[in-house]
Amino acid sequence: MAKTVVIGGGAAGLFAGCFLKKAGAGFVILERNEECGKKLLITGHGRCNITNNKEPRILSSGYHEASRFVYPALRRFTPEDCMDFITGELGLKLKTEENDRVFPVSDKASDVRDRMVSYIGRDNILTGFCCAFVTADENGFTVTSEDGRKVTAGNLILAAGGKSYPMTGSDGSGFALASSMGHTIVAPRPALAMIPSDDEIVTRLSGVTVRDVVLSLFVNGKKTASTSGDLLFTHKGLSGPAAMELAREIPHRIDGDVHICADFARDVTDQVLLTKMAEHSRSLFVNVTADFVPRSLAEMICTDTTSKCSDVSASVRKDVLRRLREYRFEITKVPDMASAYCTRGGVDLSEIDRKTYGSRIVPNLYIVGENTDVDGISGGYNLAFAAGSSYLAVSSIVG
Ligand SMILES: Cc1cc2nc3c(=O)[nH]c(=O)nc-3n(C[C@H](O)[C@H](O)[C@H](O)COP(=O)(O)OP(=O)(O)OC[C@H]3O[C@@H](n4cnc5c(N)ncnc54)[C@H](O)[C@@H]3O)c2cc1C
Repeated sequence: MAKTVVIGGGAAGLFAGCFLKKAGAGFVILERNEECGKKLLITGHGRCNITNNKEPRILSSGYHEASRFVYPALRRFTPEDCMDFITGELGLKLKTEENDRVFPVSDKASDVRDRMVSYIGRDNILTGFCCAFVTADENGFTVTSEDGRKVTAGNLILAAGGKSYPMTGSDGSGFALASSMGHTIVAPRPALAMIPSDDEIVTRLSGVTVRDVVLSLFVNGKKTASTSGDLLFTHKGLSGPAAMELAREIPHRIDGDVHICADFARDVTDQVLLTKMAEHSRSLFVNVTADFVPRSLAEMICTDTTSKCSDVSASVRKDVLRRLREYRFEITKVPDMASAYCTRGGVDLSEIDRKTYGSRIVPNLYIVGENTDVDGISGGYNLAFAAGSSYLAVSSIVG
């Protein structure tokens, strides 16, 4: 079996290294940084949400347009297989938290990274090797580093990540390498990112989380996407799962009217509000509103915080209800790639075989993880895909 070179020692490259090691295949991982897995270390706020233990069919629905494409990877290397591998082969205990998210019991992403690196063996990893270009001929691949070193191999796994959080090493150079070998790159855009906003609610309520909000994105009067979940206000914009998942849908140029409509209290109708007001007619209207949303948000939504329910007119009540159910955040800036958790875009999926992750353009080239045009929602989906795609690539290589 020909030797395999893996470009990128991030999550996907390390998983590929583990599987190659287990199969007894010859390989080397080339990583530009002085250590592997810099992004892996900051995943899950340093706790590493390594996978999501949902049934593969359900899990696959969290990958947007790529749901169908990712299914074989999640079915062949299921979250359960991933957990068995990590506990059995790497000797790391795992736990499952809310919404099926899986973490190491130690709550340390460094344990995941370190166990993978020691399983792979340092002899199989070349750090400080920044791949500048690749040539392919009938003998295989030659990878040349920025400082002129060369590594040759019969198979190449391209696992150089996306373009987001470039300080971790994944700066889009994997896309340039794929493109130089003839692949089409779907334009990279931030996914899973904070959405910038100057709205006074955002700036005044920084740090406040609102549970179970529905966010709808409108572009020039047309609703283009919608998400639901927790919304977190930060001093610069909208964050938390609901906003971060919507970020990938924001147009890459703001042209015309772009706004997000937030429904902070989806169960509250005019009748619900009226009944509540009648029951608490002597209470302050803002206190009744604060039954549905955090008090600080209720205060901003009500504006008048001194009126009793019995004194509130129908038009004020309806106005407050509208602000509760259809609060409008104007979007004037696009989300930032530098702080996005994931990249939308990458190697065009029509050029990759979803059963092997082999390139349809270059024989013996495999493209995995965020280097492909796949991005998942938050909750362990992106690492689950890094693992599954690498598993299929290695399975194809080692037969
Ligand atoms: C803050 C943050 C938190 C996250 N939390 C989670 C989470 O809890 N769960 C989850 O599922 N996902 C999470 N993600 C997303 C997840 O980390 C990525 O989807 C995943 O790391 C992608 O793996 P990858 O191997 O494809 O890319 P990366 O992990 O980015 O690895 C690519 C590697 O290739 C190297 N490289 C790039 N170019 C070259 C080159 N030219 N030569 C040599 N080496 C090169 C890079 O240095 C890097 O080490 C998070 C992301 C961020 C930023």
